[in-house]
Amino acid sequence: MTIDAAELSRRTGELLTAHPPLETDRTAFLKARFDAGLAWVHYPEGLGGLGAPRALQAVVDAELAAAGAPDNDPRRIGIGLGMAAPTILKYGTEEQKQQFLRPLWVGEEVWCQLFSEPGAGSDLAALGTRAVREGDGWIVNGQKVWTSSAHLARWAILIARTDPDVPKHAGITYFVCDMTDPGVEVRPLRQITGEAEFNEVFLTDVRIPDAHRLGEVGDGWRVAQTTLMNERVSIGGMRIPREGGMIGPISQTWRERPELRTHDLHQRLLKLWVEAEVARLSGERLRQQLVAGQPGHEGAGMKLSFARLNQEISGLEVELRGEEGLLYDDWTMRRPELVDFTGRDAGYRYLRSKGNSIEGGTSEVLLNIVAERVLGLPAEPRTDKDVAWKDLAR
Ligand SMILES: Cc1cc2nc3c(=O)[nH]c(=O)nc-3n(C[C@H](O)[C@H](O)[C@H](O)COP(=O)(O)OP(=O)(O)OC[C@H]3O[C@@H](n4cnc5c(N)ncnc54)[C@H](O)[C@@H]3O)c2cc1C
Repeated sequence: MTIDAAELSRRTGELLTAHPPLETDRTAFLKARFDAGLAWVHYPEGLGGLGAPRALQAVVDAELAAAGAPDNDPRRIGIGLGMAAPTILKYGTEEQKQQFLRPLWVGEEVWCQLFSEPGAGSDLAALGTRAVREGDGWIVNGQKVWTSSAHLARWAILIARTDPDVPKHAGITYFVCDMTDPGVEVRPLRQITGEAEFNEVFLTDVRIPDAHRLGEVGDGWRVAQTTLMNERVSIGGMRIPREGGMIGPISQTWRERPELRTHDLHQRLLKLWVEAEVARLSGERLRQQLVAGQPGHEGAGMKLSFARLNQEISGLEVELRGEEGLLYDDWTMRRPELVDFTGRDAGYRYLRSKGNSIEGGTSEVLLNIVAERVLGLPAEPRTDKDVAWKDLAR
């Protein structure tokens, strides 16, 4: 059966009639929405979708919002939705899809990403966390770092070295790690904002059943590419209304506070406003490309402009507000559940956006990716491609 906008609208109406949002428990409503295939309509039937075109999600979202239905708070579960889910969908077994996707989408289970290590960030393939086969499972030892939401997470996507005797990209395997395993220790790391969104995570004899391996043994680098490409899109390509992102608060201040205005600031704000709008519309175009399949390396371009614009706009906002822009009211170490750019003060936006050019791949590394994979320019020299990981200089 073809699922078009009219059919989705009909099914949304049925859901609302069977589970009136104002009389239904939030989680129960979200589960019913998932089971009706209206969670992410482009996912397969039985996994929260109906195999419909991705672009039609907007029809469902708009009708549910108009009826006052709860959403799954996508910002709180961004790593699960934006990174773990597409990877599980592409590489997971049927059992893994059935086990993980529903509680992930509903928000009952938060996910985190155990990729970066003290010695492996941009050069992620150099990672040293070891997974050694034992019986029907794996024993994992190592240290991860900068792990956002690890303190909230039930599950993690994890990459670990399973074969040190082959070149670094070849000996990696991808797992789902249970964050409640007694061998997982999560310690907060404080950021420039004073908060601790992220953590260092120590893995000591963590046991992962082989049933929680995603993809083939030794194929983890390829599986991780799906996660990383989706990560860039989910960081840099979020759907926002006009003036919905970082440009919103500064534009509002400009309108409400004429005493702060100067000609020079006006020119700079106009330029950034236009760039922000172009970036927003480019995001729309990228999402249309996604309708046709998995994201490609174009997501790197989106994430690059997102980071640059956030830093420039928040810098201009601090300048516009003068001394008042330098105030930062709360240095206590909090453990925020999400990054809230628009609901916080200018000082927070300025400080937090510094991380935008690091998280999800640094801007320098993304420029390399755009140069090589999008523009087809010559690759950086790589001398370690054919050397066994155990023989690499550290
Ligand atoms: C807010 C935040 C949240 C994060 N959340 C997570 C998370 O949840 N999970 C996770 O696994 N990781 C997370 N990270 C880690 C992030 O992915 C890494 O910090 C990032 O990949 C850079 O690695 P690194 O910190 O080791 O820096 P390095 O790789 O050591 O880079 C240091 C500097 O060298 C430059 N550089 C490195 N290689 C090259 C090159 N080939 N060409 C040009 N310049 C180069 C870099 O651009 C950078 O300026 C997070 C980071 C931040 C800031």
